[in-house]
Amino acid sequence: MKKSTLRNVISGIGAGISLMLSPSAMADIDKAETFDYKVDRFADIQVLRYKVPGFEQLSLDQKLLIYYLTEAALSGRDIVWDQYGKYNLAIRDLMENVYLAAREQDGKSADFKALEKYLKQIEFGNGIHHHYSMDKFTPEFSRAYFDGMVKALPADKRPANLTTLEEVIFNPAVMAKRVNQADGQDLIATSAANIYEGVTQAEVEAYYAALRDTTDLTPISLGLNSKIVKRDGKVVEEVYRQGGLYDAAITRIIDNLAKAEKYAENDRQQQVIQSLIDFYRTGDLKKFDEYSILWVGDTASRVDFINGFIESYGDPLGMTGTWESIVNFKNLEASHRTEAISDSAQWFEDHSPVDPRFRKPHVKGVTAKVITAAILAGDAYPATPIGINLPNANWIRAAHGSKSVTLENITQAYDEASHGDGFNEEFVIDAPTAQLMNKYLFITDNLHTDLHECLGHASGRLLPGVDENALGAYGSTLEETRADLFALYYLADPKLLELGLLDNPDAYKAEYYKYMLNGLMTQLMRIEPGKDIEEAHMRNRALIAYWVLDHGKADRVVELIKRDGKTYVQINDYTALRGLFAKLLAEIQRIKSEGDFAAGRTLVETYGVKVDQELHKEVLDRYSHLDIAPYKGFVNPVYQLKKDNNGNIIDVTIDYTEDYIPQMLRYSREYSTLPR
Ligand code: ZN
Repeated sequence: MKKSTLRNVISGIGAGISLMLSPSAMADIDKAETFDYKVDRFADIQVLRYKVPGFEQLSLDQKLLIYYLTEAALSGRDIVWDQYGKYNLAIRDLMENVYLAAREQDGKSADFKALEKYLKQIEFGNGIHHHYSMDKFTPEFSRAYFDGMVKALPADKRPANLTTLEEVIFNPAVMAKRVNQADGQDLIATSAANIYEGVTQAEVEAYYAALRDTTDLTPISLGLNSKIVKRDGKVVEEVYRQGGLYDAAITRIIDNLAKAEKYAENDRQQQVIQSLIDFYRTGDLKKFDEYSILWVGDTASRVDFINGFIESYGDPLGMTGTWESIVNFKNLEASHRTEAISDSAQWFEDHSPVDPRFRKPHVKGVTAKVITAAILAGDAYPATPIGINLPNANWIRAAHGSKSVTLENITQAYDEASHGDGFNEEFVIDAPTAQLMNKYLFITDNLHTDLHECLGHASGRLLPGVDENALGAYGSTLEETRADLFALYYLADPKLLELGLLDNPDAYKAEYYKYMLNGLMTQLMRIEPGKDIEEAHMRNRALIAYWVLDHGKADRVVELIKRDGKTYVQINDYTALRGLFAKLLAEIQRIKSEGDFAAGRTLVETYGVKVDQELHKEVLDRYSHLDIAPYKGFVNPVYQLKKDNNGNIIDVTIDYTEDYIPQMLRYSREYSTLPR
């Protein structure tokens, strides 16, 4: 629940980058012309590559630590594919085999092009559903063409359950949605995610209710690492662990973690890796909490990583974590920015515009840093978050704090790739606003992420006795709303100038304008005509933007105006806008602190779900002339061990030249682990 995903990818703004970037990052930007960020473009997707500035300067031990952690990361690839859908791995094998054969024989026809597009889509979605909308992809090649290609495959490459797989691929009614969040339906029956099998939502809820001990002050994260199935009429958990579900992939992860451990930077980090191995061996969630506590306390190491069952967006009930890994190292210079923010965490908490009863008297260790991602894997690949705040367990966050990171080499790649895409000219109301955004959006966007992650999620407290799951299916959206509002409110605070993070009292207006433009209009480019907004972060942005539009109507704080038949966002009073953000933050915090489900549901359903059909049509039309992909993701660099003549490892090299489909096909060859 603690990720900010893709928030700035649709900004499409050429940003002023002079401020706050480290000298090394500046040098990289100077060389930007020689680095081609764009890798592939298909359907609604742009695939980019990212740089790993500073990797070459790390010590050999740090490079080897990263190398084995990246191997551990790639070893889990099959897990997330299987979690996302029961037939995903079999379909991936089949599609890759058919694609290779068809490319050989054909490579040109409309059917082949459609087949290639479909393969690119499922590789991006880690399965047959869209990573963001959760809708199943629609193949545009004919079933007859596909049948012909499958029949021509050698016998050992033709699956025994071909009819079933074809039904899953071609029948739009089968497994239509990976995660369904629609109010009032059986969320398990209507979701294709492979986290439950043969059980109803009511049975699963009863199962967890019986296990939950509400008096336990240090509860494990129930269901985090298991699939729930029915066996002999009984509801049972199949645990992800060595010797259990996903044994082969987990064993390979463990092997690589054990190799990485030899290069740990210090004892603490060694313990972190050992305790993670322990968890994978046993599947014991108590051990996962031990690991999380060690991990959050490791703030001295330069290299860091996430590897495990972390975020629960992939589960319609929000219990089970989908597998992911990100390996990274600290960007020492840029981290001064987040350190300045987290050093003042208590000040921000004490001055937040919420009822003092809901504030934390003591904000515990929010450690924040800017990192350079070295590999993205599992649920974090190819689409990836730009900020992460972990661990997710509330009691650990309260007692031991949390680690918050901003992935600046990723935001930099988004920013570089968006230069000159025409977005500003089409959607921003006037030249002065566009200029302000050019100058200040990159830094204010990064600061927004920092504030959201370091302070927003960490702020506030529940009243005694309030269940942390009280907001149910609306919990994720309301939590993101809370963190965004906290960030928006403080972005305009003189405190940021005082801390030396901004040099212009008007800089915040760049982010305010973009946020309102995105929430009211431009994020709609990701929604298909006629559909509702479903994803938690998008609902949160619509909720905030439409609530302030509505509540500022009488004073004309923000307006949607028409000019030459086009709609524009006009902000008339930035100070009043900040006041509205404060007011809404106070209400959202109250809802969270009191567990007011009814009020939370009303807010989300009123402002965050429904789409103005006419405006939606206009936005899609204006976007169609720009050719900006609604979604972006990344290929990884390739790391290789370099040995001398005696076989001793003397370096780890990094290479950026691998393309999208070659990377996917190589991963399938080298990191396929699970039985089909
Ligand atoms: Zn968040």
